[in-house]
Amino acid sequence: APSVGVFALQGDVREHLQVLTALGADAFPVRRPAELERCDGLVLPGGESTTMAKLARTFELLEPLRERVRDGMPTFGTCAGMILLADRIEGGTADQETIGGLDVTVRRNAFGRQVDSFEADLPFAGLAEPVHAVFIRAPWVERTGPGVEVLAEAAGHPVAVRQGHLMATSFHPEVDGDGRVHRVFLGLLGG
Ligand code: GLN
Repeated sequence: APSVGVFALQGDVREHLQVLTALGADAFPVRRPAELERCDGLVLPGGESTTMAKLARTFELLEPLRERVRDGMPTFGTCAGMILLADRIEGGTADQETIGGLDVTVRRNAFGRQVDSFEADLPFAGLAEPVHAVFIRAPWVERTGPGVEVLAEAAGHPVAVRQGHLMATSFHPEVDGDGRVHRVFLGLLGG
């Protein structure tokens, strides 16, 4: 079984571990560099992206994360995790750090205050049936670089993307118990 870590210094860790375990992965929380080294793949969960980046730096995970992502480790960012994977952020603070690697510009809290959270059934590239997507103060993708494939859209903006070994969704595929999006990610691990 592939070893799949879930970044666990902050965020929706438990649900991701449950879905990954149900799909047959050896899933475990990642809080320190030695745990990151064990990973064949990694999930960056939802949470609060500025807090997650600060904690990653404090716990000396930020540079190792950048290295692993640069070296090709399959990585899946959901919601705040999408923001962490993005090369560029709009609507964030100027000094907000990311892991980067995904050639996109994301807009934080893009759907606006009036609609803090919403759900929608979205067609998803490669999946026969729509995905029930739960958005919670979600970002959207404002611009994509040439190597980025759009997997799903909402409100006219990409909300699921893939670039080589990197995948990201604005929504929370871990909350409704449907493992199909995680299975797409596990497919990036090969074997
Ligand atoms: N709004 C959060 C952020 O900007 C993301 C929300 C989430 O992950 N549910 O980090």
